[in-house]
Amino acid sequence: MSKKDISHLGQKLDFLIEGKNKYGFEIFISYVLSMENVDYVEKFLEFMNDKKVPVNFIIKYPIHDELLTERDINRYTKAIDTILYKMEEGYNVISTKYYLKFAKRHIREKNLWKCYAGSAFFVVDIDGKVGICDRLELERMNYLDITIDKLNGKNFYLVAQKGRQIQEYPDCSKRCLISCAFETSYFVEHPLRFVQKFIMDILKNTKLFRPVQSSIL
Ligand code: SF4
Repeated sequence: MSKKDISHLGQKLDFLIEGKNKYGFEIFISYVLSMENVDYVEKFLEFMNDKKVPVNFIIKYPIHDELLTERDINRYTKAIDTILYKMEEGYNVISTKYYLKFAKRHIREKNLWKCYAGSAFFVVDIDGKVGICDRLELERMNYLDITIDKLNGKNFYLVAQKGRQIQEYPDCSKRCLISCAFETSYFVEHPLRFVQKFIMDILKNTKLFRPVQSSIL
């Protein structure tokens, strides 16, 4: 993250912090950790720590295996270690240690986890188009055209898209660990463990009790 990026972000953040102090809402920043910014985590965390703004990490790596080299895996691992270390030091990070540690193993071992995209959740683009997942190259549908079959409660578009996802990207969860998909799917399978591993961890680690507004990088 260059000095220019930080000063650019700093100006926007100062407006938000001013609003927060004036109107009493909470803010946090989501940092989508990708190939482009994976080496700037420490600098970013220090900057946010100075501003006293909590950070949430979403770990995103290329969905196609050939784009991820051993060197890149090491870069991600180093970044995640830095986040965990800073959490121990008391930096205000919203992400759970469970998610971060799972990500560290997942990026190397590529374990399959069951993703409930299309059944437990779906995505809506800014233009209103709906799809099961924003990482896969599947068609989107206009939300106005979505119908739910009254007899069995199914949306056939999403069911069809899920079928295509399974056919074309049968093991996409080996190469994806987007936190919202991972955590929602974990909740579906293990609701009690979810409270223990995620909710309790967030309450323990972050000074932010209940975020009501977020800003995404
Ligand atoms: S694992 Fe990732 S890429 Fe695959 S459907 Fe779920 S969110 Fe999409």
